[in-house]
Amino acid sequence: MFYVKEQLNDAMEVSIEIDDENVFCRCPHCGSEVQVDLADVFDDGEIDLFGTSVLCGSCSKKLMGGKDSGCEQV
Ligand SMILES: [Zn+2]
Repeated sequence: MFYVKEQLNDAMEVSIEIDDENVFCRCPHCGSEVQVDLADVFDDGEIDLFGTSVLCGSCSKKLMGGKDSGCEQV
């Protein structure tokens, strides 16, 4: 399993398991929150969490000419 770990202060640390429901990013065009299935992102063959952003449904429809989902390399 993968998880994120964050040191809150000297005494507390949280670790949260990453699953297909708790990963989000911001749509680079309208700024709305987009739920991301990392398996879909990795499916593209490029694993670049900093260089990849995921468009929200409506922006990807607009920009991809009607296609349902889209990853955009920035
Ligand atoms: Zn958008």
